[in-house]
Amino acid sequence: MGWTLRLNLLEQCQYRCGYCRPQALRAATPNSAWLTPAEYARLGVLFHAAGVEKVRLTGGEPLLRDDVEEIVRALKRGCPSFTVALTTNGQRLGARLEGLARAGLDRATVHVDSLRAERYRALMGDGDVAEVLAGLEAAHALLGRAKLNVVVQRGGNEDELLDFLAYSRVTGVEVRFIELMNTGSARDYVREAFVPGAEILERAGAVARVPRRSPSDPAALYRTADGLVFGLIASDTQPFCAHCNRLRLMPDGRLAGCLYQGAAAPLGAALRAGATDAELAAIVAAAVRGKRSFHPSTERRAAFSMSEAGG
Ligand code: SAM
Repeated sequence: MGWTLRLNLLEQCQYRCGYCRPQALRAATPNSAWLTPAEYARLGVLFHAAGVEKVRLTGGEPLLRDDVEEIVRALKRGCPSFTVALTTNGQRLGARLEGLARAGLDRATVHVDSLRAERYRALMGDGDVAEVLAGLEAAHALLGRAKLNVVVQRGGNEDELLDFLAYSRVTGVEVRFIELMNTGSARDYVREAFVPGAEILERAGAVARVPRRSPSDPAALYRTADGLVFGLIASDTQPFCAHCNRLRLMPDGRLAGCLYQGAAAPLGAALRAGATDAELAAIVAAAVRGKRSFHPSTERRAAFSMSEAGG
């Protein structure tokens, strides 16, 4: 199985989605501890040797870092065969898209919880949804494919699913509806706003399931009566842990195998302490070997925010 490495570039985000709340539980990693492009380049080669084929830049909000283009370039220089993807709230995507594409970015996923300007600001924070959608559509045109992630929330946007699908029909951008996960930083919000995957499918008018793009893709794919395909990521009601191929590297280089995993291997600390490539490769290999799912039952939740572990 090819592995996917998610790089959480920083915990901070300019938005305040009710279910995420960066820094609600722990302070952000100091900037001086952030891995640099050169460090990502060095580690990228070791991850590639361990079987990583795809790298996703996420956070927090990755585009709050000024050096994302450099990070993409460094990863690609070390491993030209890496697929490098970005998950972003899209607020700064339009302005940086060409530079990111020149650096080698292959794919982008943009997170948009409402297509309606006022509701978007109420759900996410002070941003302009029209600008975000313009960036998303530009990415779709330039990269050949971009996706839109919607976190479905009761009393927030559960009445808007057909509007998202109408947007998908017009633009060709694939929409993926995400079931809320109770990550510990916003338990009350998640309890009140949770919409189960089965209800999402009903509201969206799914008529049939279609095969996943790959067994490890978190999105199950469905078709509407007119043939439109959309995704559902239902981590709680349809967990896909058995096929999960993700490793997660935090801003300071702590390496974890699962969002819910408490302990993480201190890869970044070893690198900064002068470890050799062989020593670093051994840490990566142990993480790959030891990868297990820690997905908790719906009653028992780990205390973290998605922005800490890389959403
Ligand atoms: N800032 C970027 C963004 O907004 O996409 C990247 C990081 S964000 C943590 C990645 C994804 O995680 C977003 O689609 C976000 O909505 C999702 N997310 C965060 N907390 C979540 C939760 N409790 N349940 C479900 N999805 C969540």
